[in-house]
Amino acid sequence: MAKQICEICEKPMPGPPSEWPDFPFCSPRCRKIDLGRWLGEKYKIASKQNEDQSSDEDLEED
Ligand SMILES: [Zn+2]
Repeated sequence: MAKQICEICEKPMPGPPSEWPDFPFCSPRCRKIDLGRWLGEKYKIASKQNEDQSSDEDLEED
């Protein structure tokens, strides 16, 4: 069986699966990093939509 690797730090999961409360992350720290990345992506998409809206307004002004 392939060893489970933490998606964030890419280290093998420590101990047996019963000791992985933060799976698929090896630790609360890696879980937090993943959440931060996810929220960062969401923010980037939201700000891009705002840019599109403001460019529409610019066209109307012309
Ligand atoms: Zn990790």
